[in-house]
Amino acid sequence: MSEDFYDVLGVSRDADEDEIKKAYRKKATEYHPDVSDDPNAEEKFKKVKKAKEVLSDEEKRSAYDRMGHDRFEQAEKRGGFDGGGGGRGGGNPFGGGGGMGGGMGGFEDIFNNLFNGGGGRGGQGNRPQQGADLRTRLTIDLEDAFEGVEKSLTVTRPERCPDCDGEGHPEDADVETCPECNGQGQTTTVQQTPFGRMQQTQACRNCGGDGNLYSETCDSCGGDGRVRNEATLDVEIPAGIRDGQTIRMEREGAPGENGGPNGNLLIEVHVEENEQFRREGDDLHYQHPVSFPQAVFGATVEFETLDGTVEMDVPSGTQSGETFRLKGKGMPRLQRRGSGDLYVQVQVVTPENLNKEQKKALEKFAEAGGDEVEVKEGFFEKIKNSF
Ligand SMILES: [Zn+2]
Ligand SMILES: [Zn+2]
Repeated sequence: MSEDFYDVLGVSRDADEDEIKKAYRKKATEYHPDVSDDPNAEEKFKKVKKAKEVLSDEEKRSAYDRMGHDRFEQAEKRGGFDGGGGGRGGGNPFGGGGGMGGGMGGFEDIFNNLFNGGGGRGGQGNRPQQGADLRTRLTIDLEDAFEGVEKSLTVTRPERCPDCDGEGHPEDADVETCPECNGQGQTTTVQQTPFGRMQQTQACRNCGGDGNLYSETCDSCGGDGRVRNEATLDVEIPAGIRDGQTIRMEREGAPGENGGPNGNLLIEVHVEENEQFRREGDDLHYQHPVSFPQAVFGATVEFETLDGTVEMDVPSGTQSGETFRLKGKGMPRLQRRGSGDLYVQVQVVTPENLNKEQKKALEKFAEAGGDEVEVKEGFFEKIKNSF
């Protein structure tokens, strides 16, 4: 893997934002440590993430283009670009795109922001800090969106380490105040950068922002205070939810720092298209076939909707393609009363395999109306043979 950010993402130097996002999603999927077989997946994943972070930030990208990879990296290491570190929240790396995984009974694996914000901890000293929001996607079908449904969702997420209660060290470990930051947990440096003088407050590297040093590290979490766990959650999906809407599960995200609250789990719901019913907002569109006589004389037709069987009157003289509205038979309106409408477009079906009597009747019909009917060779032969 080349180090150059454009190479890492596999895009050209004039790639636009969209191309960068797409390339990122593809690569991130490929190297996500949760799914990749590649032994260096985590390393590569971080590189991909970094590349995207820089190239999708106009300011950083132009600096990168100007300076080249090495100088950019050096400048950044000296404390250039990223302000006070710590979780840059949000930014779903996997959002909106390209069906991950699928299968698994409609659930999807979680792809979260664990690697978000370079190391997670710190930057804020030892103030309480809310955990990062995690994002995942869930696919349901239109029937479920119509009825509302409870889905079971399995996510792998960082959780507070149970063995040290998130402290990162055993309770009986010896403690000493960090000499580097005098227990403050953060250090302030003034740097000369290509953008001018910058004062930067950073998490203390010596103690990781804790302010204290401990004689022992927790074995379970390696001092991080968090471990990755699989959790199964029941998600209540309300009737009427639309494709792309997000459900928020409060406090089900990454654990907070220094006693801060957990972040939230954001679940983007993908509603699959239905073969029979096309959704437009809260309305549904459907096509129903009727025979020529039904269209001529009128009829009551019956068909299955998402809401069960309905009957509909087709008036006499209905033209093929005419649309009728069944009020209130569409999708339920989310967080409002009532439902959208169901639009039924009638398709008059031209008969294909007429029997003898039907053919005769139809010829008579044509004659009576003064229509010239040109019976095709094959058709004519069939009629003759059937006599
Ligand atoms: Zn631990
Ligand atoms: Zn320190």
